[in-house]
Amino acid sequence: SDSDETLKFTVLHTNDNHGRFWHNSDGEYGMAARQTLINRLREQVAANGGEVLLLSGGDINTGVPESDLLDAEPDFVGMSHIRYDAMAVGNHEFDNPREVLEKQQAWASFPMLSANIYKKDTGERLFKPYEIFNVNGVKIAVIGLTTEDTGRIGNPEYVSDLEFRNTAEEAAKVIAEIEANESVDVILATTHMGHYEDGNNGSNAPGDVTLARSLAPGKLDAIIGGHSQNPVCMEPGTNNYNTDFKPGDECVPDQQNGTYIMQAHEWGKYVGRADFEFRGDELKLVSYELIPVNLKEENEDGDKVFIGEEIEKDPALYSILEEFQNKGDEALGNIIATLNGKLEGDRSVVRSQQTNLGRLIAAAQTEAVPNADFGVMNSGGVRDSINAEGISGYDVSYRDVLIVQPFGNTIGRVEMSGAAIAEYLGDVATKQIESGAYAQFSGVNMAVDCAAGTVAINSLGDKDYSPEDSYIFTIPSFNANGGDNYPILDFIDTGKVDADELKRFFETKQVINAADYEPQGEVVYL
Ligand code: ATP
Ligand code: ZN
Repeated sequence: SDSDETLKFTVLHTNDNHGRFWHNSDGEYGMAARQTLINRLREQVAANGGEVLLLSGGDINTGVPESDLLDAEPDFVGMSHIRYDAMAVGNHEFDNPREVLEKQQAWASFPMLSANIYKKDTGERLFKPYEIFNVNGVKIAVIGLTTEDTGRIGNPEYVSDLEFRNTAEEAAKVIAEIEANESVDVILATTHMGHYEDGNNGSNAPGDVTLARSLAPGKLDAIIGGHSQNPVCMEPGTNNYNTDFKPGDECVPDQQNGTYIMQAHEWGKYVGRADFEFRGDELKLVSYELIPVNLKEENEDGDKVFIGEEIEKDPALYSILEEFQNKGDEALGNIIATLNGKLEGDRSVVRSQQTNLGRLIAAAQTEAVPNADFGVMNSGGVRDSINAEGISGYDVSYRDVLIVQPFGNTIGRVEMSGAAIAEYLGDVATKQIESGAYAQFSGVNMAVDCAAGTVAINSLGDKDYSPEDSYIFTIPSFNANGGDNYPILDFIDTGKVDADELKRFFETKQVINAADYEPQGEVVYL
Protein backbone atom coordinates (compact mmCIF):
# COMPACT_ATOMS: atom_id res chain seq x y z
CA SER A 1 0.00 0.00 0.00
CA ASP A 2 1.37 3.38 -0.92
CA SER A 3 -1.38 5.64 0.35
CA ASP A 4 -1.05 8.22 3.08
CA GLU A 5 -3.65 6.42 5.06
CA THR A 6 -2.73 5.11 8.52
CA LEU A 7 -3.34 1.38 8.56
CA LYS A 8 -3.61 -0.31 11.94
CA PHE A 9 -2.83 -3.88 12.77
CA THR A 10 -2.14 -5.80 15.97
CA VAL A 11 0.13 -8.79 16.48
CA LEU A 12 -0.98 -11.12 19.26
CA HIS A 13 1.43 -13.82 20.32
CA THR A 14 2.20 -16.76 22.61
CA ASN A 15 5.04 -19.31 22.68
CA ASP A 16 6.24 -22.53 24.32
CA ASN A 17 2.80 -23.99 24.92
CA HIS A 18 4.35 -27.34 25.99
CA GLY A 19 1.08 -29.22 26.27
CA ARG A 20 -0.68 -26.60 28.42
CA PHE A 21 -4.06 -26.76 26.65
CA TRP A 22 -5.76 -27.09 30.03
CA HIS A 23 -5.62 -24.68 32.97
CA ASN A 24 -3.49 -25.68 35.97
CA SER A 25 -4.88 -26.80 39.33
CA ASP A 26 -5.10 -23.15 40.44
CA GLY A 27 -7.17 -22.27 37.36
CA GLU A 28 -4.36 -20.31 35.74
CA TYR A 29 -3.95 -19.93 31.95
CA GLY A 30 -5.46 -22.60 29.62
CA MET A 31 -6.67 -22.32 26.04
CA ALA A 32 -10.37 -21.81 26.79
CA ALA A 33 -9.66 -18.58 28.68
CA ARG A 34 -7.11 -17.63 26.01
CA GLN A 35 -9.88 -18.00 23.41
CA THR A 36 -12.15 -15.59 25.32
CA LEU A 37 -9.34 -13.06 25.70
CA ILE A 38 -8.36 -13.23 22.04
CA ASN A 39 -11.99 -12.93 20.89
CA ARG A 40 -12.27 -9.85 23.06
CA LEU A 41 -9.03 -8.37 21.71
CA ARG A 42 -10.12 -9.03 18.12
CA GLU A 43 -13.31 -7.07 18.79
CA GLN A 44 -11.43 -4.22 20.46
CA VAL A 45 -8.90 -4.01 17.66
CA ALA A 46 -11.62 -4.10 14.99
CA ALA A 47 -13.61 -1.40 16.77
CA ASN A 48 -10.46 0.72 16.64
CA GLY A 49 -10.13 0.19 12.89
CA GLY A 50 -7.44 -2.50 13.08
CA GLU A 51 -7.07 -6.22 12.48
CA VAL A 52 -5.26 -9.02 14.33
CA LEU A 53 -2.43 -11.33 13.26
CA LEU A 54 -2.01 -14.20 15.76
CA LEU A 55 1.39 -15.95 15.97
CA SER A 56 3.02 -18.66 18.07
CA GLY A 57 6.74 -18.97 18.77
CA GLY A 58 6.56 -22.78 18.74
CA ASP A 59 7.30 -25.69 21.10
CA ILE A 60 3.68 -26.78 21.24
CA ASN A 61 4.79 -30.29 22.15
CA THR A 62 5.88 -32.05 25.33
CA GLY A 63 5.43 -31.34 28.99
CA VAL A 64 1.97 -32.45 30.14
CA PRO A 65 1.03 -36.16 30.12
CA GLU A 66 -2.60 -35.56 29.04
CA SER A 67 -1.24 -33.80 25.95
CA ASP A 68 1.75 -36.06 25.36
CA LEU A 69 -0.44 -39.16 25.48
CA LEU A 70 -2.55 -37.72 22.65
CA ASP A 71 0.38 -36.45 20.55
CA ALA A 72 -0.65 -32.86 21.42
CA GLU A 73 -3.88 -33.18 19.44
CA PRO A 74 -5.76 -31.05 22.02
CA ASP A 75 -3.17 -28.29 21.66
CA PHE A 76 -3.28 -28.15 17.88
CA VAL A 77 -7.08 -28.45 17.81
CA GLY A 78 -7.27 -25.65 20.40
CA MET A 79 -4.91 -23.40 18.45
CA SER A 80 -6.92 -23.95 15.28
CA HIS A 81 -10.12 -23.10 17.15
CA ILE A 82 -8.51 -19.88 18.42
CA ARG A 83 -7.49 -19.25 14.80
CA TYR A 84 -3.74 -18.87 14.97
CA ASP A 85 -2.35 -17.55 11.70
CA ALA A 86 1.10 -19.19 11.85
CA MET A 87 3.65 -20.75 14.17
CA ALA A 88 7.41 -21.17 14.27
CA VAL A 89 8.64 -24.75 14.35
CA GLY A 90 10.22 -25.41 17.77
CA ASN A 91 12.86 -27.97 18.72
CA HIS A 92 10.26 -29.96 20.68
CA GLU A 93 8.23 -30.44 17.51
CA PHE A 94 10.85 -33.16 16.84
CA ASP A 95 10.22 -35.11 20.05
CA ASN A 96 8.01 -37.50 18.12
CA PRO A 97 8.44 -39.49 14.91
CA ARG A 98 7.95 -37.50 11.71
CA GLU A 99 4.54 -39.13 11.10
CA VAL A 100 3.28 -37.52 14.30
CA LEU A 101 4.51 -34.12 13.16
CA GLU A 102 2.70 -34.65 9.85
CA LYS A 103 -0.47 -35.56 11.75
CA GLN A 104 -0.10 -32.36 13.74
CA GLN A 105 0.28 -30.32 10.54
CA ALA A 106 -3.05 -31.79 9.44
CA TRP A 107 -4.71 -30.90 12.77
CA ALA A 108 -3.40 -27.33 12.49
CA SER A 109 -5.44 -24.94 10.37
CA PHE A 110 -2.37 -22.69 10.12
CA PRO A 111 1.13 -23.17 8.67
CA MET A 112 4.20 -24.29 10.61
CA LEU A 113 7.03 -22.10 9.34
CA SER A 114 10.76 -22.63 9.32
CA ALA A 115 13.22 -21.33 6.76
CA ASN A 116 16.36 -23.01 8.08
CA ILE A 117 15.40 -26.70 8.30
CA TYR A 118 16.55 -28.72 5.32
CA LYS A 119 16.33 -32.38 4.37
CA LYS A 120 19.86 -33.71 3.99
CA ASP A 121 19.05 -36.06 1.13
CA THR A 122 17.25 -33.66 -1.20
CA GLY A 123 18.55 -30.32 0.08
CA GLU A 124 14.94 -29.10 0.20
CA ARG A 125 13.27 -27.29 3.06
CA LEU A 126 11.03 -29.39 5.30
CA PHE A 127 8.62 -26.49 5.95
CA LYS A 128 7.40 -23.36 4.23
CA PRO A 129 9.98 -20.62 4.93
CA TYR A 130 7.45 -17.80 5.10
CA GLU A 131 3.82 -16.88 4.57
CA ILE A 132 2.30 -13.64 3.34
CA PHE A 133 -0.70 -12.15 5.10
CA ASN A 134 -2.90 -9.25 4.18
CA VAL A 135 -3.81 -7.71 7.50
CA ASN A 136 -6.13 -4.73 7.17
CA GLY A 137 -4.56 -3.76 3.87
CA VAL A 138 -0.97 -4.19 5.09
CA LYS A 139 0.98 -6.89 3.30
CA ILE A 140 3.01 -8.74 5.94
CA ALA A 141 5.57 -11.47 5.37
CA VAL A 142 6.13 -13.77 8.35
CA ILE A 143 9.34 -15.81 8.28
CA GLY A 144 9.81 -18.89 10.50
CA LEU A 145 13.17 -19.81 12.09
CA THR A 146 14.20 -22.65 14.39
CA THR A 147 17.12 -22.85 16.84
CA GLU A 148 20.23 -24.42 15.34
CA ASP A 149 20.49 -26.36 18.61
CA THR A 150 17.68 -28.65 17.45
CA GLY A 151 20.21 -30.77 15.62
CA ARG A 152 22.25 -31.05 18.80
CA ILE A 153 19.60 -31.35 21.54
CA GLY A 154 16.83 -32.97 19.51
CA ASN A 155 16.27 -36.70 19.41
CA PRO A 156 18.82 -37.97 16.86
CA GLU A 157 16.34 -40.64 15.76
CA TYR A 158 14.08 -37.89 14.44
CA VAL A 159 16.48 -35.15 13.39
CA SER A 160 19.54 -36.89 11.98
CA ASP A 161 18.13 -36.66 8.44
CA LEU A 162 17.78 -32.90 8.82
CA GLU A 163 20.11 -29.93 8.69
CA PHE A 164 19.46 -26.90 10.89
CA ARG A 165 21.21 -24.14 9.02
CA ASN A 166 22.57 -20.84 10.31
CA THR A 167 19.56 -18.72 11.22
CA ALA A 168 21.11 -15.32 10.44
CA GLU A 169 22.28 -16.38 6.98
CA GLU A 170 18.99 -18.06 6.23
CA ALA A 171 17.01 -15.01 7.37
CA ALA A 172 19.07 -12.69 5.14
CA LYS A 173 18.53 -15.05 2.21
CA VAL A 174 14.77 -15.31 2.70
CA ILE A 175 14.40 -11.56 3.18
CA ALA A 176 16.22 -10.98 -0.11
CA GLU A 177 13.93 -13.55 -1.73
CA ILE A 178 10.82 -11.82 -0.38
CA GLU A 179 12.08 -8.40 -1.47
CA ALA A 180 12.73 -9.73 -4.97
CA ASN A 181 9.50 -11.64 -5.45
CA GLU A 182 6.78 -10.09 -3.34
CA SER A 183 5.90 -6.53 -2.66
CA VAL A 184 5.35 -6.50 1.07
CA ASP A 185 5.00 -3.62 3.51
CA VAL A 186 6.27 -5.33 6.64
CA ILE A 187 8.55 -8.29 7.38
CA LEU A 188 8.21 -10.15 10.67
CA ALA A 189 9.89 -13.30 11.93
CA THR A 190 8.25 -15.84 14.18
CA THR A 191 11.16 -17.68 15.74
CA HIS A 192 12.02 -20.43 18.17
CA MET A 193 15.60 -19.41 18.93
CA GLY A 194 15.57 -17.89 22.41
CA HIS A 195 16.01 -14.34 23.67
CA TYR A 196 19.29 -13.85 25.48
CA GLU A 197 20.02 -10.58 27.28
CA ASP A 198 22.35 -8.44 25.16
CA GLY A 199 22.91 -11.41 22.87
CA ASN A 200 24.76 -13.44 25.50
CA ASN A 201 23.65 -16.86 24.38
CA GLY A 202 26.34 -18.73 26.34
CA SER A 203 26.38 -22.37 25.34
CA ASN A 204 23.10 -22.00 23.42
CA ALA A 205 22.90 -21.40 19.70
CA PRO A 206 22.51 -17.71 18.75
CA GLY A 207 19.11 -16.26 19.57
CA ASP A 208 16.87 -13.39 18.50
CA VAL A 209 19.21 -10.58 19.59
CA THR A 210 22.08 -11.96 17.53
CA LEU A 211 19.72 -12.37 14.58
CA ALA A 212 18.49 -8.77 14.79
CA ARG A 213 22.04 -7.43 15.06
CA SER A 214 23.23 -9.51 12.10
CA LEU A 215 20.86 -7.96 9.58
CA ALA A 216 21.13 -4.59 7.86
CA PRO A 217 19.00 -2.08 9.78
CA GLY A 218 15.39 -1.90 8.61
CA LYS A 219 15.40 -5.36 7.02
CA LEU A 220 13.31 -7.03 9.72
CA ASP A 221 10.60 -5.14 11.57
CA ALA A 222 9.93 -7.42 14.50
CA ILE A 223 10.77 -10.85 15.92
CA ILE A 224 8.08 -12.76 17.75
CA GLY A 225 10.09 -15.37 19.61
CA GLY A 226 10.13 -18.35 21.95
CA HIS A 227 12.41 -21.08 23.36
CA SER A 228 14.08 -19.21 26.25
CA GLN A 229 10.66 -19.08 27.96
CA ASN A 230 11.03 -15.65 29.50
CA PRO A 231 8.91 -12.55 29.38
CA VAL A 232 11.05 -10.24 27.24
CA CYS A 233 10.56 -7.01 29.18
CA MET A 234 13.49 -4.60 29.21
CA GLU A 235 14.69 -1.67 31.22
CA PRO A 236 13.73 1.05 28.72
CA GLY A 237 16.57 2.05 26.43
CA THR A 238 18.98 -0.62 27.69
CA ASN A 239 20.04 -4.13 26.80
CA ASN A 240 19.06 -5.34 30.28
CA TYR A 241 16.01 -7.19 31.46
CA ASN A 242 13.58 -5.55 33.81
CA THR A 243 14.17 -8.17 36.48
CA ASP A 244 11.30 -6.82 38.61
CA PHE A 245 8.70 -7.61 35.97
CA LYS A 246 5.58 -9.19 37.45
CA PRO A 247 2.31 -10.17 35.76
CA GLY A 248 0.26 -7.04 35.14
CA ASP A 249 3.30 -4.73 34.99
CA GLU A 250 4.13 -2.64 31.99
CA CYS A 251 6.42 -4.51 29.56
CA VAL A 252 8.85 -2.81 27.20
CA PRO A 253 9.92 -5.17 24.41
CA ASP A 254 13.54 -5.37 23.31
CA GLN A 255 14.69 -3.40 20.29
CA GLN A 256 17.95 -4.22 18.54
CA ASN A 257 19.20 -2.60 15.38
CA GLY A 258 15.70 -1.29 14.70
CA THR A 259 14.04 -4.68 15.14
CA TYR A 260 11.53 -5.19 17.94
CA ILE A 261 11.88 -8.48 19.82
CA MET A 262 8.99 -9.91 21.81
CA GLN A 263 8.31 -13.07 23.78
CA ALA A 264 5.40 -13.99 26.07
CA HIS A 265 7.08 -16.18 28.72
CA GLU A 266 5.56 -19.68 28.30
CA TRP A 267 2.48 -22.00 28.51
CA GLY A 268 0.01 -19.32 27.41
CA LYS A 269 0.48 -17.51 30.72
CA TYR A 270 0.29 -14.29 28.72
CA VAL A 271 -0.93 -13.09 25.39
CA GLY A 272 1.49 -10.53 23.99
CA ARG A 273 -0.20 -7.61 22.26
CA ALA A 274 1.66 -5.29 19.88
CA ASP A 275 -0.37 -2.51 18.25
CA PHE A 276 1.24 -1.23 15.08
CA GLU A 277 0.46 1.64 12.73
CA PHE A 278 1.63 1.59 9.14
CA ARG A 279 1.68 4.85 7.24
CA GLY A 280 3.37 5.56 3.93
CA ASP A 281 6.44 3.43 4.40
CA GLU A 282 6.76 3.79 8.15
CA LEU A 283 5.93 1.18 10.76
CA LYS A 284 5.35 2.39 14.29
CA LEU A 285 4.80 0.34 17.44
CA VAL A 286 2.09 2.31 19.20
CA SER A 287 1.78 0.19 22.31
CA TYR A 288 2.83 -3.15 23.74
CA GLU A 289 1.65 -5.27 26.63
CA LEU A 290 1.81 -8.77 28.08
CA ILE A 291 -1.72 -9.61 29.13
CA PRO A 292 -1.88 -12.22 31.93
CA VAL A 293 -4.28 -15.11 31.28
CA ASN A 294 -5.87 -15.80 34.65
CA LEU A 295 -2.54 -15.68 36.48
CA LYS A 296 -2.72 -15.53 40.25
CA GLU A 297 -0.75 -13.91 43.05
CA GLU A 298 -0.87 -14.34 46.82
CA ASN A 299 -2.82 -11.80 48.78
CA GLU A 300 -1.99 -10.69 52.35
CA ASP A 301 -3.78 -13.75 53.75
CA GLY A 302 -1.62 -16.01 51.65
CA ASP A 303 -4.51 -16.96 49.37
CA LYS A 304 -4.01 -17.21 45.64
CA VAL A 305 -6.20 -14.68 43.86
CA PHE A 306 -6.55 -13.68 40.22
CA ILE A 307 -4.48 -10.72 39.08
CA GLY A 308 -7.20 -8.54 37.61
CA GLU A 309 -10.57 -9.94 36.68
CA GLU A 310 -11.00 -13.62 35.92
CA ILE A 311 -11.37 -14.34 32.21
CA GLU A 312 -14.27 -16.72 31.60
CA LYS A 313 -13.49 -19.89 29.70
CA ASP A 314 -14.93 -19.97 26.19
CA PRO A 315 -17.68 -22.62 26.50
CA ALA A 316 -17.32 -24.04 22.99
CA LEU A 317 -13.58 -24.60 23.21
CA TYR A 318 -13.85 -25.71 26.83
CA SER A 319 -16.15 -28.59 25.96
CA ILE A 320 -13.85 -29.69 23.12
CA LEU A 321 -10.82 -29.67 25.39
CA GLU A 322 -12.65 -31.24 28.32
CA GLU A 323 -13.19 -34.38 26.30
CA PHE A 324 -9.44 -34.64 25.66
CA GLN A 325 -8.66 -33.91 29.31
CA ASN A 326 -11.04 -36.63 30.53
CA LYS A 327 -9.64 -39.15 28.10
CA GLY A 328 -6.16 -38.44 29.43
CA ASP A 329 -7.23 -38.38 33.07
CA GLU A 330 -8.73 -41.82 32.90
CA ALA A 331 -5.57 -43.42 31.60
CA LEU A 332 -3.25 -41.43 33.83
CA GLY A 333 -5.01 -41.73 37.16
CA ASN A 334 -4.29 -45.46 37.51
CA ILE A 335 -2.34 -46.19 40.68
CA ILE A 336 0.56 -48.48 39.87
CA ALA A 337 2.55 -48.72 43.15
CA THR A 338 3.03 -47.43 46.69
CA LEU A 339 6.11 -45.35 47.32
CA ASN A 340 7.85 -44.52 50.59
CA GLY A 341 10.13 -41.48 50.36
CA LYS A 342 11.06 -39.08 47.60
CA LEU A 343 12.52 -40.23 44.30
CA GLU A 344 14.87 -37.40 43.42
CA GLY A 345 14.62 -35.97 39.92
CA ASP A 346 14.89 -32.20 40.51
CA ARG A 347 17.08 -30.95 37.70
CA SER A 348 19.43 -29.07 40.04
CA VAL A 349 20.20 -32.38 41.78
CA VAL A 350 19.84 -35.10 39.18
CA ARG A 351 22.12 -33.30 36.70
CA SER A 352 25.01 -33.16 39.16
CA GLN A 353 24.97 -36.30 41.32
CA GLN A 354 23.76 -39.91 41.37
CA THR A 355 20.18 -40.05 42.68
CA ASN A 356 17.76 -42.81 43.66
CA LEU A 357 15.42 -41.98 40.76
CA GLY A 358 18.19 -41.86 38.14
CA ARG A 359 19.40 -45.24 39.36
CA LEU A 360 15.88 -46.68 39.54
CA ILE A 361 15.11 -45.70 35.94
CA ALA A 362 18.38 -47.20 34.74
CA ALA A 363 17.55 -50.35 36.75
CA ALA A 364 14.05 -50.54 35.23
CA GLN A 365 15.57 -50.45 31.75
CA THR A 366 18.17 -53.07 32.67
CA GLU A 367 15.45 -55.37 34.07
CA ALA A 368 13.47 -54.98 30.84
CA VAL A 369 16.27 -56.50 28.77
CA PRO A 370 17.21 -60.15 29.37
CA ASN A 371 20.80 -60.69 30.53
CA ALA A 372 21.60 -56.97 30.69
CA ASP A 373 24.33 -56.30 33.26
CA PHE A 374 23.98 -52.58 33.84
CA GLY A 375 22.16 -49.44 32.76
CA VAL A 376 23.10 -45.93 31.64
CA MET A 377 20.58 -43.07 31.78
CA ASN A 378 21.00 -39.42 30.80
CA SER A 379 19.99 -37.16 33.68
CA GLY A 380 18.33 -34.70 31.25
CA GLY A 381 15.82 -37.44 30.46
CA VAL A 382 14.73 -37.47 34.13
CA ARG A 383 12.24 -34.60 33.96
CA ASP A 384 10.93 -34.45 37.54
CA SER A 385 10.88 -36.02 41.00
CA ILE A 386 8.21 -38.47 42.17
CA ASN A 387 6.62 -37.75 45.55
CA ALA A 388 8.46 -34.47 46.05
CA GLU A 389 7.17 -34.15 49.61
CA GLY A 390 8.57 -37.57 50.49
CA ILE A 391 5.41 -38.78 52.19
CA SER A 392 5.21 -42.46 53.01
CA GLY A 393 2.49 -44.49 51.36
CA TYR A 394 2.40 -42.22 48.30
CA ASP A 395 0.26 -43.54 45.44
CA VAL A 396 2.34 -43.60 42.29
CA SER A 397 0.22 -43.09 39.15
CA TYR A 398 0.91 -43.55 35.48
CA ARG A 399 0.82 -39.75 35.35
CA ASP A 400 3.90 -39.58 37.60
CA VAL A 401 5.73 -41.90 35.23
CA LEU A 402 4.89 -39.85 32.15
CA ILE A 403 5.86 -36.61 33.85
CA VAL A 404 9.28 -38.09 34.60
CA GLN A 405 9.70 -39.74 31.19
CA PRO A 406 7.69 -37.82 28.56
CA PHE A 407 9.92 -38.40 25.54
CA GLY A 408 8.90 -41.92 24.57
CA ASN A 409 12.43 -43.18 23.95
CA THR A 410 12.96 -46.85 23.37
CA ILE A 411 15.52 -48.90 25.26
CA GLY A 412 18.72 -49.75 23.43
CA ARG A 413 20.64 -52.99 24.09
CA VAL A 414 24.38 -52.84 23.62
CA GLU A 415 26.95 -55.62 23.82
CA MET A 416 30.60 -54.67 24.21
CA SER A 417 33.91 -55.88 25.56
CA GLY A 418 35.03 -54.63 28.97
CA ALA A 419 37.78 -52.60 27.31
CA ALA A 420 35.33 -50.90 24.94
CA ILE A 421 32.98 -50.21 27.84
CA ALA A 422 35.79 -48.58 29.81
CA GLU A 423 36.49 -46.28 26.89
CA TYR A 424 32.79 -45.54 26.41
CA LEU A 425 32.19 -44.78 30.08
CA GLY A 426 35.34 -42.66 30.14
CA ASP A 427 33.48 -40.36 27.79
CA VAL A 428 29.92 -40.68 29.12
CA ALA A 429 30.67 -40.56 32.86
CA THR A 430 32.71 -37.38 32.48
CA LYS A 431 30.11 -35.29 30.67
CA GLN A 432 29.62 -31.75 31.89
CA ILE A 433 28.10 -31.65 35.36
CA GLU A 434 24.80 -29.70 35.52
CA SER A 435 24.02 -30.58 31.91
CA GLY A 436 21.43 -33.10 30.77
CA ALA A 437 24.33 -35.22 29.51
CA TYR A 438 25.47 -35.99 33.08
CA ALA A 439 24.84 -39.75 33.37
CA GLN A 440 23.04 -41.83 35.98
CA PHE A 441 24.13 -45.47 36.40
CA SER A 442 22.68 -48.67 37.75
CA GLY A 443 24.88 -51.71 38.36
CA VAL A 444 28.16 -49.92 37.69
CA ASN A 445 30.89 -49.88 40.30
CA MET A 446 33.68 -47.57 39.20
CA ALA A 447 35.90 -44.60 39.97
CA VAL A 448 35.62 -41.68 37.55
CA ASP A 449 38.56 -39.39 36.83
CA CYS A 450 36.90 -36.36 35.26
CA ALA A 451 40.14 -34.48 34.59
CA ALA A 452 41.69 -37.43 32.74
CA GLY A 453 38.39 -38.48 31.15
CA THR A 454 38.85 -42.08 32.27
CA VAL A 455 37.14 -44.62 34.51
CA ALA A 456 38.46 -47.55 36.58
CA ILE A 457 35.72 -50.19 36.62
CA ASN A 458 35.45 -52.71 39.47
CA SER A 459 32.30 -54.56 38.52
CA LEU A 460 29.39 -54.51 36.07
CA GLY A 461 26.15 -55.96 37.41
CA ASP A 462 27.12 -59.01 39.42
CA LYS A 463 30.22 -59.69 37.32
CA ASP A 464 33.79 -58.68 38.03
CA TYR A 465 35.29 -56.41 35.44
CA SER A 466 37.66 -57.80 32.86
CA PRO A 467 38.69 -55.96 29.67
CA GLU A 468 38.34 -59.19 27.63
CA ASP A 469 34.89 -60.25 28.84
CA SER A 470 31.74 -59.19 27.10
CA TYR A 471 28.90 -57.35 28.84
CA ILE A 472 25.42 -56.15 27.95
CA PHE A 473 24.01 -52.78 28.95
CA THR A 474 20.93 -50.66 28.34
CA ILE A 475 20.70 -47.02 27.29
CA PRO A 476 17.92 -44.75 25.99
CA SER A 477 17.73 -44.72 22.18
CA PHE A 478 18.21 -40.94 22.37
CA ASN A 479 21.76 -41.35 23.69
CA ALA A 480 22.58 -44.48 21.72
CA ASN A 481 21.92 -42.39 18.62
CA GLY A 482 24.32 -39.71 19.79
CA GLY A 483 21.99 -37.49 21.80
CA ASP A 484 23.71 -35.32 24.45
CA ASN A 485 26.87 -35.87 22.41
CA TYR A 486 27.24 -39.45 23.58
CA PRO A 487 29.25 -41.65 21.22
CA ILE A 488 27.00 -43.16 18.55
CA LEU A 489 26.57 -46.86 19.30
CA ASP A 490 25.98 -49.99 17.34
CA PHE A 491 22.91 -51.12 19.30
CA ILE A 492 19.77 -53.21 19.12
CA ASP A 493 16.63 -51.17 19.51
CA THR A 494 14.43 -53.34 21.73
CA GLY A 495 11.37 -51.30 20.79
CA LYS A 496 10.46 -51.18 24.49
CA VAL A 497 9.36 -47.68 25.48
CA ASP A 498 11.06 -46.17 28.53
CA ALA A 499 7.87 -44.98 30.29
CA ASP A 500 6.16 -48.35 29.70
CA GLU A 501 9.07 -50.17 31.30
CA LEU A 502 9.22 -47.76 34.23
CA LYS A 503 5.50 -48.34 34.73
CA ARG A 504 6.01 -52.10 34.56
CA PHE A 505 8.84 -51.83 37.10
CA PHE A 506 6.55 -50.06 39.58
CA GLU A 507 3.69 -52.49 38.95
CA THR A 508 5.94 -55.50 39.46
CA LYS A 509 7.46 -54.23 42.71
CA GLN A 510 4.16 -52.83 44.04
CA VAL A 511 5.97 -51.25 47.01
CA ILE A 512 9.03 -49.09 46.44
CA ASN A 513 11.24 -47.82 49.23
CA ALA A 514 13.11 -44.83 47.90
CA ALA A 515 15.98 -45.54 50.29
CA ASP A 516 16.70 -48.86 48.55
CA TYR A 517 17.83 -46.94 45.48
CA GLU A 518 20.04 -44.42 47.23
CA PRO A 519 23.59 -44.47 45.87
CA GLN A 520 26.00 -46.27 48.19
CA GLY A 521 29.20 -44.95 46.71
CA GLU A 522 29.18 -47.32 43.73
CA VAL A 523 30.25 -44.46 41.50
CA VAL A 524 33.05 -42.33 42.91
CA TYR A 525 34.14 -39.09 41.23
CA LEU A 526 37.83 -38.38 41.82
P1 ATP B 1 13.35 -26.04 25.82
O1 ATP B 1 11.96 -26.28 26.25
O2 ATP B 1 13.82 -24.69 26.18
O3 ATP B 1 13.60 -26.36 24.40
P2 ATP B 1 14.98 -28.33 26.58
O4 ATP B 1 14.15 -29.47 27.05
O5 ATP B 1 15.55 -28.45 25.22
O6 ATP B 1 14.22 -26.98 26.78
P3 ATP B 1 16.49 -28.65 28.95
O7 ATP B 1 15.29 -28.66 29.82
O8 ATP B 1 17.74 -27.97 29.43
O9 ATP B 1 16.16 -28.04 27.55
O10 ATP B 1 16.84 -30.15 28.62
C1 ATP B 1 17.86 -30.52 27.74
C2 ATP B 1 18.19 -31.97 28.05
O11 ATP B 1 17.01 -32.74 27.97
C3 ATP B 1 19.15 -32.58 27.07
O12 ATP B 1 20.47 -32.33 27.45
C4 ATP B 1 18.81 -34.05 27.19
O13 ATP B 1 19.53 -34.63 28.27
C5 ATP B 1 17.35 -34.04 27.55
N1 ATP B 1 16.52 -34.37 26.40
C6 ATP B 1 16.01 -33.52 25.48
N2 ATP B 1 15.31 -34.19 24.57
C7 ATP B 1 15.36 -35.49 24.92
C8 ATP B 1 14.82 -36.69 24.38
N3 ATP B 1 14.06 -36.68 23.28
N4 ATP B 1 15.09 -37.82 25.02
C9 ATP B 1 15.83 -37.85 26.13
N5 ATP B 1 16.37 -36.77 26.69
C10 ATP B 1 16.13 -35.61 26.08
ZN1 ZN C 1 12.52 -24.87 22.83
